[in-house]
Amino acid sequence: MVAAPPDFKPLKVAVIGGGLGGLAAAVALRRAGHLVSIYERRDFKLEVGASISCAKNGAQWLRDWGVNIPSGKPIILEDLMMRDWRTGEVLNTYSLADYEHNWGTPYYMFHRVDMHEMLLRAATEEAGEGSPCSVVVDHIAEAADPEKGIVKFQNGVEVEADLIIGADGIRSILRREIGVTPDIKSANQTCYRCNVRRADLAKLGLEWAAHPAIQFWGGYPAPNLSMYYKIVMSPCSGGDLVSFYCFMPTELTNHTEEGFTFAEVPPSDILKAQYSELDPAARALIENSIDRMPWRLYIHQPYSHWIKGRICILGDAAHPMMPHQSQGACQAIEDAAALGIIFSREHGFTSDVKAGLELYEQIRKPRATRVQAASARATENLNERIGFTSLSAPEAKLAAKAGKLTVDEMNLYDMRAHIAKEVAARYDGAQAAQAA
Ligand SMILES: Cc1cc2nc3c(=O)[nH]c(=O)nc-3n(C[C@H](O)[C@H](O)[C@H](O)COP(=O)(O)OP(=O)(O)OC[C@H]3O[C@@H](n4cnc5c(N)ncnc54)[C@H](O)[C@@H]3O)c2cc1C
Repeated sequence: MVAAPPDFKPLKVAVIGGGLGGLAAAVALRRAGHLVSIYERRDFKLEVGASISCAKNGAQWLRDWGVNIPSGKPIILEDLMMRDWRTGEVLNTYSLADYEHNWGTPYYMFHRVDMHEMLLRAATEEAGEGSPCSVVVDHIAEAADPEKGIVKFQNGVEVEADLIIGADGIRSILRREIGVTPDIKSANQTCYRCNVRRADLAKLGLEWAAHPAIQFWGGYPAPNLSMYYKIVMSPCSGGDLVSFYCFMPTELTNHTEEGFTFAEVPPSDILKAQYSELDPAARALIENSIDRMPWRLYIHQPYSHWIKGRICILGDAAHPMMPHQSQGACQAIEDAAALGIIFSREHGFTSDVKAGLELYEQIRKPRATRVQAASARATENLNERIGFTSLSAPEAKLAAKAGKLTVDEMNLYDMRAHIAKEVAARYDGAQAAQAA
């Protein structure tokens, strides 16, 4: 039996952190009829520039929320390509040609700054369903009371809300305030990201690098080459830039602080050790790159819990993962979508925020944890990446059976149906308890 249509009241929502996950949550909750304020520690001028791919499981929610996706200048990806580290020879291609036909959305590649602006616009503009969200910058959260629903900022401001969303990223304060102690260890691999301008590709005679694909060099067990050497390259920003993620063994770098650092490095910081053996074309691109900055990676074990009182965490605050499934932002968008559905008019949780958050954790934690684990596995072997796990080699056909993450598993998932089923089960359970 399905629950009767519940009462609905708009919630006062405070989103702490205005990154991709926080903005997605703001859009989802605005669309669901709530009054949302976003509190960000800095202004947005420092947004980090690099590519963010957005598979169907993220893109479907952007589309549902009516986000103006073309304004984010996405590239529509056509292929995933594996190349040999030393020669650049194409070893494997996973075609995305039928992706939109099969799944209903393209596989997008955004520039992070464009994606951020697109979501910020969707959250704050007058047009569209729900009340525009307000944005408060230069507010650094430093403490919170989950039971009273209060957040305190370093500047002395205190905010009370019905629902508080900790979207404050990898070094989350809200996570600490709900009593989670991360179990982390340094990853064996560190990343530098850099960009190459479209105009420079022509000068170098390397226009093929603008092909709408994600191209990978290395990243799998190979003779005389550590699997921690890997390049992930793709065009973004409407094709104006080609973005590179350059991975290498951590011991070759001297970066200690987790996350992104705003500190330009010379090409020689990247082109060391076995980068000297890299395909000369890829080397030439890195030598002619701009915006070269380090991104230190840590592995987080799944957290004990994501919620307490009126607070939940989402995105990198809840499930930081290695970047090798290109799913961190997509999983943050799924978190946002879950909150939007749970606290919608359809379900009865606006009168019981704690129960709604329990359902949020129940729905989201197992799936995000599975992606988190698969991202760590793909650090050692690119064949574990969604897409490459589904190639038609005999062993790949067994991918799902072997517990690997596949395109089908990611894209067939129906979150609305999952939530509706859990809500109905709770309602039936409550009815049965009353009758007994
Ligand atoms: C190398 C690399 C490549 C990646 N590529 C992809 C990809 O292709 N596809 C994909 O889906 N994902 C990718 N990701 C993952 C993705 O970038 C993250 O998972 C995603 O940005 C997380 O969003 P978030 O909002 O949770 O965190 P963030 O984007 O980090 O946002 C957190 C926000 O909170 C603010 N904040 C922090 N502390 C406070 C405080 N105390 N008070 C107020 N505000 C605060 C910060 O300033 C920031 O704006 C990649 C990650 C890496 C490292």
